[in-house]
Amino acid sequence: MKKNVFAMAIAACMAASLAACGGADTAATTAAQTTGAQTTAAEAGETASAEETTQAEAEAAGGVLVMATNAEFAPWEYYEGGDIVGIDPEIAQAIADKLGMTLEIEDMAFDSIIPAVTSGKADFGAAGMTVDEDRKVFVDFTDTYANASQVIIVKEDSEIAGSKDLSDKKIGVQLGTTGDLLATDLAGDSNVERYNKGFEAVQALLQDKIDAVVIDSAPANVFVEQNEGLKVCSEAMSQEEYAIAVAKGNTEMLDKINGALKELKEDGTIDAIMNKYIPAE
Ligand code: GLN
Repeated sequence: MKKNVFAMAIAACMAASLAACGGADTAATTAAQTTGAQTTAAEAGETASAEETTQAEAEAAGGVLVMATNAEFAPWEYYEGGDIVGIDPEIAQAIADKLGMTLEIEDMAFDSIIPAVTSGKADFGAAGMTVDEDRKVFVDFTDTYANASQVIIVKEDSEIAGSKDLSDKKIGVQLGTTGDLLATDLAGDSNVERYNKGFEAVQALLQDKIDAVVIDSAPANVFVEQNEGLKVCSEAMSQEEYAIAVAKGNTEMLDKINGALKELKEDGTIDAIMNKYIPAE
């Protein structure tokens, strides 16, 4: 039952309009206005001829590859000034380079990413996204490129030491994530507070509105570094693998990305990008 949260959410998203489902359009516009590459595209959109020229240039250069993400998840994807940076954007750029294509990044709510991919608004989703059986109903996943686990963030003086202590606690999560599923399993639906951004969950924890946050390990470490008075429990509550999502049955895109990923793994590019953002201790 709980396991169907993704499926139900995605089905609801697809039934409703995309815009109504997480404000993808608004977020994309914001990203377009704030990222250098997309400012050009947005400006070009003002006149049809300019748009055609940009499009023609992109086609001549191998076409545009549109990535859907949620840039609220450092070190995987986040804003630095007006630019979306992080591990996933760098891997995506390296893939686009291999394919001779121009990368465009669209920022949206995490639970809008799969609908954007299934509807063709985006060519792929890359967002520290865990390979998950329920998601596989809607998208195909590429080969994996990273491992992760869910962890618990608590206040430094908290008595919560691990998942065994969470059953009657208020847990903050990011809506539609594997952390959402895990927390719901551990504490029950009524104890889970769902936020659009991990940061909002962390703020709620700092304000004592909730007792813990369940989120992926690397973002948890970043949140704890950036906010006084928090710690990460040592328990790794899950073993997860990240991959890129493409539309179900889009074997052409899947094969292209897997081909590029294979080369980028073999030539050390993926490791170098990972080490840049998550230096080994
Ligand atoms: N890895 C988690 C998931 O796939 C969280 C991803 C995210 O919040 N960007 O659900």
